[in-house]
Amino acid sequence: RVAAEAAAALDLCVMADGTRIEIVANLANAAEAGRAVALGAEGCGLLRTEFLFLDRDSAPDEEEQRMAYAAVAAGLGGRPLIVRTLDIGGDKPVAYLPFPREDNPALGARGIRFSLARPDLLAQQFRAILAGVPAAQCRIMLPMVIDAGELAAARVILDEARAALGIDTPVPLGVMVETPAAAMLAASLAREADFLSIGSNDLTQYALAADRGNPAVAAKVDALHPAVLHLIARAAEGARAHGRWLGVCGGIASDPLAAPILIGLGVTELSATPAAIPALKAVVRQLTLGDCEALAERALAAATAADVRSLLQRTA
Ligand code: PEP
Ligand code: MG
Repeated sequence: RVAAEAAAALDLCVMADGTRIEIVANLANAAEAGRAVALGAEGCGLLRTEFLFLDRDSAPDEEEQRMAYAAVAAGLGGRPLIVRTLDIGGDKPVAYLPFPREDNPALGARGIRFSLARPDLLAQQFRAILAGVPAAQCRIMLPMVIDAGELAAARVILDEARAALGIDTPVPLGVMVETPAAAMLAASLAREADFLSIGSNDLTQYALAADRGNPAVAAKVDALHPAVLHLIARAAEGARAHGRWLGVCGGIASDPLAAPILIGLGVTELSATPAAIPALKAVVRQLTLGDCEALAERALAAATAADVRSLLQRTA
């Protein structure tokens, strides 16, 4: 809970019962940062750093990366910035990083798996982030994690990068929960991570065994499917057990209709596309935590995604 006047002055998002929910933006480049703030973003919950690496002939060097991250941080005017480490893999090929061909790129060497296979590139990205983003704003997030072993391995590389730059203060390091494994092991991850954020696009794809990019199964890929909601509930329990916060940075975070369920499950940060932020804030400000928790309870008991959606229609 925060004082009402302070929240209003900063345009923070506070529910009708005083519960604080952070509404931040997903960004894919520096140009979007200022626009997101103008639309009410309280910071950035997911900077997809792939923009720096795709559609070019050679990798950006450390200085180019540093300048790009610094530009995003400046655009946010001191607000928190969560930089996600590179999430490329077999399905997002880059000519200058030869990937072996994979039959199942979605199940392949993507995200943190690629980064730990190329620790030189991960170390370089960590240094560029640490040098580019002011410490007070800086948080780092790892994609496609399945267990605390990967987090520990990345933290060793991050600590080396901090040492190389002479940075003593720890930087918050979080993980995306976008594999069912990470959701199941959320308590173990939360013991070591500073925060967790649900990547609902991939979490839905992997939980429902339905390719997020395949139009033939598009109707199946619904993040409000009860199976996905149970994984989010599990992640929230794990985060709570270790006093960590849980956010959502997948597409479902931009849907005002889904917000009461996510908040009721224990989510306290929603990272949305900038354009969705004004409507999202307006909706969240009308909600109370008790109502959201009751709704989430009923959604968890639903049998199908359609049942969850009709529950939402009835209570909207
Ligand atoms: C997600 O999977 O929900 C996510 C936010 O990551 P991306 O969409 O970049 O895979
Ligand atoms: Mg993802």
